[in-house]
Parts: sequence; structure tokens; C-alpha cells
Amino acid sequence: MNEWTTAVGALVLVLSLGIGALLSRAYFAPVGAHRAQRGLSWPQALEVNDLGYCPAEGRTTLHAFHADGSRTCWTCRTITTDTTPPGGTE
Ligand SMILES: [Zn+2]
Repeated sequence: MNEWTTAVGALVLVLSLGIGALLSRAYFAPVGAHRAQRGLSWPQALEVNDLGYCPAEGRTTLHAFHADGSRTCWTCRTITTDTTPPGGTE
């Protein structure tokens, strides 16, 4: 075995490792439904608890704020769809 065949063998080995790495990355890349979801599909399902004005009680109570802009009072379960802040109508 001379130096030329050693160099060609080393080149073939390096190229095969590189191609194998690329193929394995493509093969094991996450695709389909189990891939981590992006965008707004997951945050839209979240509800946030915060203080909000309850029109039924006439005071500020703890509310569950929904994705559609409405909120539900945790004290009396009143659902408020008006998203305007309180105080402007008094
Ligand atoms: Zn209430």
C-alpha cells in the first residue's frame, strides 16, 4: 500500500462519515405530530388568572381571562365579555 491509496482511503472515510452524519440528521429530525408545536396553537388554550372588574358584584375580583377576550369571575362565576376596562362608565 502506497501513500496514494492511503490518501484515497482517508478521503473516502471522511466523505462517508460526513454523508452519514447528514443522513442521520435528516432521518432523526423531528417531523409530524410529535414535533414541538410552534405558533399560537398552544398559548391560545391558556387561561390567565388576574384581577378584573366584576359587573355583577361591582368590584374587582379574581378572574380567569380566556383566549377570546372574555373573563369569568372566580367568586360568582359571572362571564364578562366586555373587554373595556372598568372606571370609564361611572
Ligand atoms: Zn363576580
